[in-house]
Amino acid sequence: MTDFADRHIGPDRESERRMLDSVGYGTVDELMDAAIPEVIRWHGTLDLPPAASEAEVIAELRALADRNTVNVSMIGNGYYGTHTPAVIRRNVLESPAWYTAYTPYQPEISQGRLEALLNFQTMVSDLTGLTTANASMLDEATAAAEAMTLARRASKTKSPVYVVDADTLPQTLAVIEGRAEPLGITVLVTDLSAGPAALPAEFFGLHLQYPGASGAVRDHSSLVAAAHEAGALVAVAADLLALTLLRSPGEIGADIAAGTTQRFGVPMGFGGPHAGYLAVRAGLERMLPGRLVGVSRDADGAPAYRLALQTREQHIRREKATSNICTAQVLLAVIASMYAVYHGPDGLRSIARHAHSHAARLAAGLRAGGVSVADEAFFDTVTASVPGRAFDVVAAAASRGVNLRLVDADRVAIACDETTVAAHLSIVWEAFGVPEFSGASSAALPSDLARTSDFLTHPVFHEHRSETAMLRYLRRLSDLDYALDRGMIPLGSCTMKLNATTEMEPISWPEFANIHPHAPASQTAGYRSLISSLETWLAEVTGYDAVSVQPNAGSQGELAGLLAIRGYHRSRGDLERDVCLIPSSAHGTNAASAVMAGMRVVVVACDDEGNVDLVDLDAKIAAHASRLAAIMVTYPSTHGVYETGIASLCAKVHDAGGQVYVDGANLNALVGFAKPGKFGADVSHLNLHKTFCIPHGGGGPGVGPIGVRAHLSPFLPGDPLGAGADSAGVAVSAAQHGSAGILPIPWAYLRMMGAEGLARATGAAVLAANYVAVRLREHYPVLYSGNKGLVAHECILDLRPLTKATGVSVDDVAKRLIDYGFHAPTMSFPVAGTLMVEPTESEDLAELDRFCDAMIAIREEITKVGSGTWPRDDNPLANAPHTAAMVSGDEWSHAYPRSVAAYPFGVSRVGKYWSPVRRIDGAFGDRNLVCACPPPEAFE
Ligand SMILES: *Cc1c(COP(=O)(O)O)cnc(C)c1O
Repeated sequence: MTDFADRHIGPDRESERRMLDSVGYGTVDELMDAAIPEVIRWHGTLDLPPAASEAEVIAELRALADRNTVNVSMIGNGYYGTHTPAVIRRNVLESPAWYTAYTPYQPEISQGRLEALLNFQTMVSDLTGLTTANASMLDEATAAAEAMTLARRASKTKSPVYVVDADTLPQTLAVIEGRAEPLGITVLVTDLSAGPAALPAEFFGLHLQYPGASGAVRDHSSLVAAAHEAGALVAVAADLLALTLLRSPGEIGADIAAGTTQRFGVPMGFGGPHAGYLAVRAGLERMLPGRLVGVSRDADGAPAYRLALQTREQHIRREKATSNICTAQVLLAVIASMYAVYHGPDGLRSIARHAHSHAARLAAGLRAGGVSVADEAFFDTVTASVPGRAFDVVAAAASRGVNLRLVDADRVAIACDETTVAAHLSIVWEAFGVPEFSGASSAALPSDLARTSDFLTHPVFHEHRSETAMLRYLRRLSDLDYALDRGMIPLGSCTMKLNATTEMEPISWPEFANIHPHAPASQTAGYRSLISSLETWLAEVTGYDAVSVQPNAGSQGELAGLLAIRGYHRSRGDLERDVCLIPSSAHGTNAASAVMAGMRVVVVACDDEGNVDLVDLDAKIAAHASRLAAIMVTYPSTHGVYETGIASLCAKVHDAGGQVYVDGANLNALVGFAKPGKFGADVSHLNLHKTFCIPHGGGGPGVGPIGVRAHLSPFLPGDPLGAGADSAGVAVSAAQHGSAGILPIPWAYLRMMGAEGLARATGAAVLAANYVAVRLREHYPVLYSGNKGLVAHECILDLRPLTKATGVSVDDVAKRLIDYGFHAPTMSFPVAGTLMVEPTESEDLAELDRFCDAMIAIREEITKVGSGTWPRDDNPLANAPHTAAMVSGDEWSHAYPRSVAAYPFGVSRVGKYWSPVRRIDGAFGDRNLVCACPPPEAFE
C-alpha cells in the first residue's frame, strides 16, 4: 500500500533523481548536508509515533472524537449552537475550491471570494448600522481589543483610560486587559447598568456589550452621548443575530461595533475558528485594521473587487501599522455571509425570534416555578437566581444532556439559539426543579429598542432562497477563483502545500464541531488529549520545552511570544528592556507585533548577500545593550537562505541580556533537520496553516502556536476565563485553545507522516526550490543564495534589471502568469521588484516544469518587448490577464495575435482557467472607496 508520505510529496523517486541530477547532488541527504549550516544541524530522528495510514488515522481520530460528549449547549457567553446549512457545509467548508485558496492579493483570480467577503462586509455594516465593515477579525475578543486601539488612535483626549462595562463577556475583558497593559492603557471595569453617572471624568473610549453577558438588553444611548461629551469613542460588542430585532449600534450613536459571526452557521469548534467582525462609522474607515474589500474597475471599466486601502498594510507601514493582523478568518467569513445570503433578512429575523421566544418561554416557566430571573429585558439569555443551588442545577442539567452556564454559586445563565427546541426547555425546568410550563409568554425586548430600519436589502440576500439557487451561486463564485485545486500556488513565505482530504474530514464531525469552549472538562477528554499530543509533537519538532496552541494566527503567536519575553524580563526586574531588534528583511507583522507588545523597534541592516549584517548588529546591540529586550529573526530568512551567522547572532543577543525570537513561518525548511529551540532561540511561533497543512481558506483560518524554552513557559498565554491560572501569561485569543476546531488537521498530518515522512517532506521542499532556482537562474537572476550557491525552501527571482531595461514590471509578470494558468509567486516581498517562489514538496515534477516553462516563455515575451517587436504599452504582458470576452471580441487591434493572448506556450485549449476580469485599477478603488455590494445595475 502507498504510504501517506508518498501521497503528500509530489515528486516520485524517479522525478527526485532527475531533479537531483539538475541540481548536481547524488541524494537528498547530500543536498541537505550542503545546504544547511552545520551549526544549526540536528542529526537525530524525531521522537514521534510511527507513521499511520490514512485509514488508521481516521480510526484514531474517531476514537478521540468519541471521547468528547456533544451535549446541547445553552452556555452562551459568546458561543451558540447553530445549524450550518448542509449546502454551505459541503460546498464551502468541505470544498477545496474555497478552502485551498490564498488571500486575495491577486484580485483578478479571486473575484469569487472577494464577492463573498463583500457580502460579509455588507451584512455586518447593515446589521450594525455603521458605514464600513472589514472582511473579518480573528475572534470577538481580539476584535474588541482592536476596537480599543482604534478608539485610542481616533480620540483627541489624552486620557489613558478605557472604560469597560462590567456586563462584558469575560474572555473579551481578559483579552482587552492583556492588550491594554503593554500599551499603557488603563482599563477601568465599571458597572454601568445605572447609567452615565458611573463614568469617570476623563476617558478615551468606552466598551459596551449589547446584549450584555448576563443577557440583559439595555438602552445604551445615554452612555454613548455621555462618552461623546467627554471626547471618547464608543465601541459596542454586538450580537448580530440580536441586531435583526434590536436598534443597531449605529442608530444609538456608536462609533465602532465589534463581535463575532459564529452563530451565523459556523460551528463552535471548542472555541474556533470563527470570523470576528469590526465596523466603523464614516470618518474612521481609513483607521480600520484588518482587510477591507472594495469595489474598483478593471482595464475595460467593468466593476471588479479588490482589497482596498491597507493591502499588505504591515509590509508598508511596519511599526506604524494599525494592527498586526495578516491571516484573518476568510473561510469562516464566507460561511457566515452565505448563511445570510441563504436565509435573507426574513430568515435571520425568524431565527432570532425563535431564540428569543424560547428564552422568553424559559423565563416565564422559571418565574412560574418561583425562580427569580434577573432582567426584564433580554434577547436569548436569561440569568436565574438559585441561591446556593447553582452547582446542583448545572449538574442536573448536564446529566440530562444540556449544558448551562454557572455564573457563580447563586446564579445560572441559560442561552437559547437556533437549535433550541421545546424538549431542551423541559430539561432546564426539570434541572431547576420547576414544573413543565405550558402558559403563555410574551416577548421581553424593550419596545423602544425595537429595530425599525431595514437591512440586507441588496438582491444577493434575496435571490438564493432555494437550495438549487444557493448551490449554483456557490459554484459560480468558486469557479471564478484560482485555488490549489486548479494548480500550483508558488507563493514564497506562504507554503501552499497539500491539504489532504483525510486531514480535513474530521473537522466537520459533530464531536469536534459542536463543542462549546466552556464545556465541562469531563465532556472534552478527546479534544484535550488531541491538543496535548499535538503540543508534545510540536515541541519535539521545534526543540522547545513547551507549546501553546492558543494564538489563532502567526501574528498572534508573535504577540504572544513577545509578551512572554516581556513578562520574563519584568519578572526579573528588568523593566527597562523594551528594544526589539528586527532585520530590515523581516515580515511586516514582526514590527507591528513588537509595538503591540510595548516594544520599540530598532532595525538591523542586511548585507549584500541578504544576511543579517553582523557588524550592524554589534553596533545596535552596543547602542541599546541595557535596554535590549529581544531580536526577532526569521529562519531560514525571508530571503530564502539558511544564514550561517544565526548561532553567533543568538549568542550576541543573549550575551547582552536579550531574548531571541525566531519567526518559524519558514519551518518547512527545517522540520527534521534543525530545531530552533536547540540552535539558540528562546521562542518561536509556527504557522500551522503553512508548514502543518491547515488550508489557507482564502486568507484564514490559521493557527500560530508558540514554542518556548523552559524559562519562558510560565509566560505562555493564559486561560481567558482565568480558570486554574497556572500561567502568568496574557490571553491572546478568546478561547483557551484558540482555533481548536481545526487542530485535527495538523494532528493528522504529523500522525500520517511520522518522523521519516516529515524529514522527507523537508528535503523534497528544499530540492524543489533548488530545482526551480537552477532551471530559472539563467533567465532571471536568483537574488540570494547561501552555502554552495543553494537556496532553502524558496528562491527570489530578481526582475529589477529586466524592468529597468524593458519596462516590464513584476506586476506584469504576475498577471501574465494568470494567462498561463498559475497563481503568481509572492510579489515584492521581501525585496521590491522581485518574485519569491516557494514550490513546496507537494507539487510534482510535471507541475514544477510547467511553471518553469511558463516563466521561461514569459522571459522570451519580455525579450520581445525589450527588442521592440512588441510596443511597450501593447503587449501580452502589459495587457494581462486576458479575459475570454476580450479575446473573443469582434475587434482585435493588438500587436500580437489572439492565440498568443489566450493560449501561450504550453497552455491547453481544454480546461484553461480564464480570469473573469481584466487588470484591476487599484488606485481608483482607493480614491473612490466603496466597501459594500454595489447595485446590480453597476454590472450592466
Ligand atoms: C505568514 C508569515 C507571518 C504571519 O503569519 P499570519 O498567520 O499570516 O499572521 C509572519 N512571518 C512570516 C515570515 C510569514 O511568512
